[in-house]
Amino acid sequence: MTGHVMMVGAGLSGAVIGRMLAEAGWQVSVVDARPHIGGNCHTERDAETGVMVHVYGPHIFHTDDAEVWDYVNRHTTFMPYKNRVKTTSRGQVFSLPVNLHTINQFYGKTMRPDEARLFIDEQADTTITEPQTFEEQALRFVGRDLYEAFFKGYTQKQWGMAPTELPASILKRLPVRFNYDDNYFFHTYQGMPEHGYTPMIESILDHENITVTLNTRFDRAEAAGYDHVFWSGPLDGWFDYELGRLGYRTLDFERFTYTGDWQGCAVMNYGEVDVPFTRITEHKHFAPWETHSGSVLYREFSRACGPEDIPYYPIRQVNEVALLREYVRRAEAEDGVTFVGRLGTYRYLDMDVTIREALDTGRRFLAARETGHAM
Ligand code: UDP
Repeated sequence: MTGHVMMVGAGLSGAVIGRMLAEAGWQVSVVDARPHIGGNCHTERDAETGVMVHVYGPHIFHTDDAEVWDYVNRHTTFMPYKNRVKTTSRGQVFSLPVNLHTINQFYGKTMRPDEARLFIDEQADTTITEPQTFEEQALRFVGRDLYEAFFKGYTQKQWGMAPTELPASILKRLPVRFNYDDNYFFHTYQGMPEHGYTPMIESILDHENITVTLNTRFDRAEAAGYDHVFWSGPLDGWFDYELGRLGYRTLDFERFTYTGDWQGCAVMNYGEVDVPFTRITEHKHFAPWETHSGSVLYREFSRACGPEDIPYYPIRQVNEVALLREYVRRAEAEDGVTFVGRLGTYRYLDMDVTIREALDTGRRFLAARETGHAM
């Protein structure tokens, strides 16, 4: 059985599910309110410098999922890319994630791995056995000094609240290494699409059964015209924010240009709270295989997301749990619509996880329709 589905949002979720259904013979309409496909992964060449810009901030592809890696490689050429982040704090530049170089530089020592491990264990607050908050997680694993230099101020700026109010899970994204490995991620597959993310998503959407309409908001009243809707907009948006709004952070980017190499790396974080921005991205370093004399940089500022702003990071604050649970309950009870992706499920998803979930969702949908069940 086939029919006509509506994908609301032309980001990764919409594209991947849409493509799978199109290949299975479904008609797929994709709409997006913005003037481009790709959601927040969208990339475009800067008109002035020719540099490929990550318009909504840095996106680095990394995964352990071989199927996802094969999938993206079928749609574009990936170039080798390792994410090596630096951070400025207390008048010095340090290497992230916290590794042996960071620890030795910070404490002015020349410790070997075992010595550093013991030393950090001494700094750590071992009375915290089950860290719940971001701060507890940091104090437990790196101790107060490193926490205050690298995490406390940055996190306060990024999330607009004290690390005592944030879940430990946010910090669990970052490793601590007792060697000199400064690769930000430990995934097997890492890379950057040669021509940016937008052509990759364009290729995924390139199928005769798929029609993409941009600059168009989906009106829920239109849902009746489709056999099914996949909604990758904000979860609470589907319900017209009836119960209140789920909290997001949005980002503002202050663009500036330079002739030459401004900071010598793609991403420089600023660990201290009195520097108002969280990080500076020098986009040309995301494409080290290209040569550009000019450079374009973004100073990144994080703030609370208002109704007219683009949502980036779901906050998932402890006191939002009840509201989220109620929206999820309603979403599950809703017929004819599946909520997908970062906004649709209100989760902090990396690109590879988004694609994995989209593949799974598409397969579940097709399997259910095969057996005559609604999803
Ligand atoms: N973080 C920090 N200092 C840094 C980098 C990260 O305190 O220099 C914290 C911050 O709270 C951030 C979280 O660790 O939100 C996860 O970092 P990640 O680099 O994964 O953030 P993303 O790249 O997704 O913004």
